[in-house]
Amino acid sequence: MEHEQLEADVVIVGAGPAGLATALRLAQLIEQHNAEIDSGARKGEKLSAEEVYLFEKGREIGSHLLSGAVIDPRGLRELLPDFDPQSSSEPKSWLTPVLQDSVYFLTERSQWKLPVTPPFLHNHGNFVTSLNRLGRWLGEKVEAAGVSVFAGFAGKQMLYEEGRVVGVRTDDKGLDREGKPKSNFEPGYDLRAKVTVLAEGPRGSLAKQLIGQRKLDQGSNPQTYAVGIKELWEIPEGRIEPGTVIHTAGWPLTSAQYGGGWLYALPEGRVSLGLVSGLDYTDPMFDSHEAFQRYKTHPLFRRILEDGKMLKYGAKAIPEGGWFALPQLATDGALLVGDSAGFLNSQRLKGIHLAIKSGMLAAETVLEALRRNDFSENSLSDYVRRVESSWVKEELWKTRNYHQGFEGGMLRGAFHAGLQMFTGGRGLRDRYSNRAGHERLRKLQNGKLQNGELQNGKLQNDKPHNGAASPERPSFSPDGKLTFDKLTDVYHSSTKHEEDQPCHLLIADTNICNNRCTVEYGNPCRFFCPADVYEMVEGKDGHPQIHLNPSNCVHCKTCDIMDPYQIITWVPPEGGGGPNYENL
Ligand code: SF4
Repeated sequence: MEHEQLEADVVIVGAGPAGLATALRLAQLIEQHNAEIDSGARKGEKLSAEEVYLFEKGREIGSHLLSGAVIDPRGLRELLPDFDPQSSSEPKSWLTPVLQDSVYFLTERSQWKLPVTPPFLHNHGNFVTSLNRLGRWLGEKVEAAGVSVFAGFAGKQMLYEEGRVVGVRTDDKGLDREGKPKSNFEPGYDLRAKVTVLAEGPRGSLAKQLIGQRKLDQGSNPQTYAVGIKELWEIPEGRIEPGTVIHTAGWPLTSAQYGGGWLYALPEGRVSLGLVSGLDYTDPMFDSHEAFQRYKTHPLFRRILEDGKMLKYGAKAIPEGGWFALPQLATDGALLVGDSAGFLNSQRLKGIHLAIKSGMLAAETVLEALRRNDFSENSLSDYVRRVESSWVKEELWKTRNYHQGFEGGMLRGAFHAGLQMFTGGRGLRDRYSNRAGHERLRKLQNGKLQNGELQNGKLQNDKPHNGAASPERPSFSPDGKLTFDKLTDVYHSSTKHEEDQPCHLLIADTNICNNRCTVEYGNPCRFFCPADVYEMVEGKDGHPQIHLNPSNCVHCKTCDIMDPYQIITWVPPEGGGGPNYENL
């Protein structure tokens, strides 16, 4: 198949905070570079921001962006020195100064407020925000700066030449379910670039290809993830002061699980709330969506949400591994930024400022490489040096062992976290190791699902599983007011895909799902997917068979991460498909 070739100086894949910051900083530096040439202060060729291509799989910039979120404005202030969140000209409607923050430990029916908020959870000077709105706003600035922006195009494949990255192939459009061209077929483009910057967010599909192909994670700890499930609610105005930030630990997660919840109050009677569950749990029947629904029934939240209305829903993976899980950040012709690399401070529950700063440092590296006309790994490794001498390293170094300390559960984690606070992040040893989260899943006993849904390999209930029960948890029925099933939530994510297209969830061997996984793990995909994409249905021979509903997919990447056999590969569906997040 012929793919039209387009040449650019730089291709940036993904318009999240990291990709947008890369593009905007590069445009600023190019303007400065050209001005220096005009004034005679510098010799060399002029550059053009139009030669920077930023493309995004969502139908618009921001439509796939989701976060809690409380933002530390440090990165934004460096990216936009004139940025003043207090001034009337700035978008105050989605930046709410944090007025008070508190931390609770929850049991099922009660809560205990920590008398003192730990310093790392102090949010004075930070803002409650919507990442989706921030992304749209930054996207306008990037376009105004002259960068070539393409929404609705997914990066499908890395392009290599003589071992170095030379760009990215975008998705083919107009393929049917079997992969055959339809009447509207358009082959993807080969976007060839001197440097390719991967900013796809957590567990990026191209980043996964590149890291695997170039073995960029050799010597790093395995990256570990969590999944965040979020709803945006409208409640009677005046019930909670905008700028109130609540974080919780404990129920409904067990003491063996990593994670916690949040409630952030926004103006106009809106609240963001959600639950982050570590994707390193052991119970194969754990369902993070169901856990979040239970979370809302806690008296602390029930009284806030009562008579309110759920407006929006979304889910997204979060890289939690920290400094030691960062892969090699630069290779011949390519850089990794933001969540694609793993720049996130899991102790502070923040990554947007780090994503922005990593994008800025990548942009500064790329400009120097363009001036030198050298895009080798050695030249681009200047990015690593910039990261190491920036506040990104300073911040992440202090928490380098944080997440690993929780491998033995919350109590041990609290002990390690305390010790690390007094030893500058060291704790008991220089470097804590960890296992990949999916390796911790426990196998079922006697080859049977312990909740009685599947007995002796026969399917007893072919209904979609919206939070099936495990022996430790009674079954859960959403009430449709405070709690919802997965399909209702997916509806509130405004997810849409072209139905007649190849499935974007590639399962290497469905025999493993239908036979081995049914017996060994009870098909945990039914539980860990927060969008009801995976179900087991009765096959012709009476045996359970995996069945997928890919149109429900909210692109959270949990299945690619948590599948115990690592046989699920998430690839981008036709560009423009997926959630259409608003205010999330
Ligand atoms: Fe997330 Fe995978 Fe389910 Fe899509 S199919 S919503 S990526 S778990």
